[in-house]
Parts: sequence; structure tokens; C-alpha cells
Amino acid sequence: MVTRKSRDEIEKMRRAGRIVGEVLALMEEELKPGITTAQLDAAAEAYIRKAGGRPSFKGYQGFPASICVSIDDEVVHGIPGPRVIEEGQVVSVDVGAIWQGYHGDAARTFYVGTAPEKVAGLITTTRLALQAGIAAAVPGAHIEDISAAVEEVASEGGYGIIRQYVGHGIGTAMHEDPQVPNYRTGRRGLELVPGICLAIEPMLAMGGYECETLADRWTVVTVDHSLAAHFEHTIAVTEQGPQVLTAA
Ligand code: MG
Repeated sequence: MVTRKSRDEIEKMRRAGRIVGEVLALMEEELKPGITTAQLDAAAEAYIRKAGGRPSFKGYQGFPASICVSIDDEVVHGIPGPRVIEEGQVVSVDVGAIWQGYHGDAARTFYVGTAPEKVAGLITTTRLALQAGIAAAVPGAHIEDISAAVEEVASEGGYGIIRQYVGHGIGTAMHEDPQVPNYRTGRRGLELVPGICLAIEPMLAMGGYECETLADRWTVVTVDHSLAAHFEHTIAVTEQGPQVLTAA
């Protein structure tokens, strides 16, 4: 079921989203060689709780942590633990927070150190694909317009677009209808009207788009072990156009 949020509900989502945006800014500061992914997780959880929120990922279908940290060929859902961050890694951090019952969800990919040109291209293109998807989320457009905008940017760079995982509606649940694919499906999908809130989240790989889940039942990696990047924002469709709710 697709729900339209009231102005008041969108303001609550903006509060949740601001917490998420601030946590991602904190992660960027903390992400240095020598820190463990469990330490990043602890810092994120402390920040969310201090801000009056709750981490939405913790306990979600049994997920054991507050954030996902996915490194190099890991696309999404990496579990924080004793792994130590090293120079030269591609690190994707996904954060979700609930504030007064409303969710915010966002992700960014960082490079530890100065990225080689090819890797910087992957990361930048994923960010630009997200921006293009957001810009397409105007009243009167359809889900397919978002998918096409993301696909156009991603395929220009020749990157693999992950198909197994897609964006989603968001509100009082982290995952609501509709799904938001990062590639054209040939179906127009839902017409966007003010009050629809979406998490748009392109995931791109340097190589092919095929993924598999590791034995931990969470971590998703590219089958060809090529590097992957992931950017996500929660947005609201408004009369004035799309509004990013997860800005810092
Ligand atoms: Mg999401």
C-alpha cells in the first residue's frame, strides 16, 4: 500500500532524516585507518539515541547492528564487527533512524584516502545517479521516470546497476510500497503526487550487476568481486518538487 504523508508527518520524517544525515557526516569524520567497523557502529548508535531517535536497522529481521558497513566488493548489508578500516578501501555506510515513529534512511560511499581516478568515477557516478533520480521525483512523474534518470547516468559510465536491490517507499515503516528500481522496467509505475516519500538508492558496480549473499546471511557482494558504491536519500514529493529529508 502506498501512503501519502501529511505536512506534519513529513516534518517528523525530516527530523528522523536529519539525524541520519548527521550520523553520515560523523561517519565521514570518524572513517580513518585503524578504526573498526564496530566502533563506527557504536558511534552511530550513540549519536542516534542522544538525538532522541532509535536505530531502525537494529533487530530488523534479526540484523545485529545499527548501521551497515560494506567494504570494497560488498554492496550492502555488511555487518559491523572487528574488521579494521584500511587506507584504500571503498566503504559504504547505510544509516536508518526512527524519530517519533517515522523513518529516515540514507547511505553514502567513502574512499579511505585519495581515490584512484577509476574508483572516484564509480563513487561520483553513483552520487550523480542519485541526484538525477531525486530531480525526476516531481508531481506528475512516475516511478519509471526516476528509474530512467538513474539508469541514464549509471549506464553512461558503463557501470553495472545492481538489480536485486531497489529503492522503496518509506514512512512509519522502513520499507513501504512502491519499489523504486534503478533501471527501466518498461512499466510507468505509480504516479507521483505530493506526500509520497521515497528512499532512492542506486547501487553501482565497477563490473557486472550480479550479487550474492555471504554465509553470514546479510552481506551482499558482487559475484565478480568488483568494487561497488551506494548512495541513498529519503525524499518527499511536494508541490514545490522533491525535498531531501536526510540532509545533514
Ligand atoms: Mg533503503
